Amino acid sequence: MTGAHSDVLILGGGSGGYACAFRAAQLGLSVTLIEADKIGGTCLHRGCIPTKALLHSAGIADAARTGVEFGVRTTFDGIDIDAVHWYKNGTIDRLHKGLRGLVAHHKITVVTGHGKYLGNRTIEVDGTRYTGTSVVLATGSYARTVPSIELGERIVTSDDALNLGFVPKKAIVLGGGVIGVEFASVWASFGADVTIVEALPRLVAAEDPWCSKQLERAFRKRGISTRTGVTVAAAKETADGVLVELDGGDTPEADILLVAVGRGPRTGDCGFAEHGIALDRGFVVTDDRLRTPVDGVYAVGDIVAGLQLAHRGFQQGIFVAEEIAGLDPVPVAEDLVPRVTYSHPEVASVGLTEAAARERHGDATSVVYDLAGNGKSQILRTSGGIKVVRAGDTGPVVGVHMVGDRVGELIGEAQLAVAWEALPTDVAPFVHAHPTQNEALGEAMLALSGKPLHTHG
Ligand SMILES: Cc1cc2nc3c(=O)[nH]c(=O)nc-3n(C[C@H](O)[C@H](O)[C@H](O)COP(=O)(O)OP(=O)(O)OC[C@H]3O[C@@H](n4cnc5c(N)ncnc54)[C@H](O)[C@@H]3O)c2cc1C
Repeated sequence: MTGAHSDVLILGGGSGGYACAFRAAQLGLSVTLIEADKIGGTCLHRGCIPTKALLHSAGIADAARTGVEFGVRTTFDGIDIDAVHWYKNGTIDRLHKGLRGLVAHHKITVVTGHGKYLGNRTIEVDGTRYTGTSVVLATGSYARTVPSIELGERIVTSDDALNLGFVPKKAIVLGGGVIGVEFASVWASFGADVTIVEALPRLVAAEDPWCSKQLERAFRKRGISTRTGVTVAAAKETADGVLVELDGGDTPEADILLVAVGRGPRTGDCGFAEHGIALDRGFVVTDDRLRTPVDGVYAVGDIVAGLQLAHRGFQQGIFVAEEIAGLDPVPVAEDLVPRVTYSHPEVASVGLTEAAARERHGDATSVVYDLAGNGKSQILRTSGGIKVVRAGDTGPVVGVHMVGDRVGELIGEAQLAVAWEALPTDVAPFVHAHPTQNEALGEAMLALSGKPLHTHG
């Protein structure tokens, strides 16, 4: 059967796909969006939003525990996990309703079902063939697993961990990347004894090593154990928990094992490779304008190798819509995509690590401003710091790396400085409101300009 023809035919309604749909519709193009599950994709239903809701509940648990330190008589009486899920799911539902409203507002045709690319800018869903003048592939990603470890009720990926019906007393998190670290943070705040096992030598290994050190120190203080340079050899469910075998012979037990070893591109069952869409380790190969080798077919989001983040997907989706509309947009710069890990404490960064800056620019200079000198951070009782990296010793700011509670909210200013290739002396004169954590970024810029204020440097 033949379905509708549209200017833009999109496969996958997650961050990348729906952003592309909205922008294309705004530009007057007709759009068909094919989605097997729910509009909003991983980010809304199984990723960003549910994890951040859990982290917010976790933060309230911490605040209840520590109220007396601030002169408020609070006690922590425990977690009502059903109520946590009710709050989390309510947040998702509200956003999902809003998103569906926007889809209708933009007059986007939604086709529900699993789509398969047939070549010739055609996608088949349940026997009906849809065609597009342009096709955008946005099928997203799935949680990778470890072949030797069988998933079950207590050996889970983030998909099931989000809806766990109990608070574990003991949790082992396999993988110290963003997702593993965020769950470790939630469960520790909920009262669990948490161990992170990471094969690489440090947590959040994609970040500047300074961030990893700060995070590991903060986690140690919170009682979260970190076993880096260690792999899990095997794991099996027992009658009432999980038995994990680490390389080296240790066999810790836990109530839950979270397997958080990264995410793979969902490109295996969509007909891509069979119809000329080149794949590299499963990721769709594109040029910097997100064109696949097949004329008129683009790819956006997690299926394109690089940072698997929702805001990158949004931006790529918008870019492709504008490209299709002939607006000649500027490609999305991977280096300028901000990264935030929303654990307690948070890790936020944009631009190059110090090592990458040295490699790219021959040399680099950096300063670290300790949050101990920042009034607002002291009011919040958070520790950490802000590291700013410049190219050479006179060049622009090329990287900002931050650790501390709420530092994710500072990433906007950091991003502007890096994206506009500002010199520290350009930014240092900006007056930051007092007392804010933004001041710490200003202090780091002052220090890098050679005129530190609240430091001993
Ligand atoms: C636990 C967790 C926490 C995260 N936290 C953050 C965060 O805080 N910030 C952040 O920026 N990112 C976060 N992410 C990553 C973010 O969710 C992804 O980068 C983002 O969702 C990618 O968008 P996408 O459009 O590429 O794919 P997805 O959101 O995965 O959407 C793809 C959509 O395509 C559909 N689909 C797939 N194949 C087909 C098919 N053949 N036919 C029809 N439909 C199909 C799927 O059902 C899905 O809805 C997190 C991810 C996880 C798992």
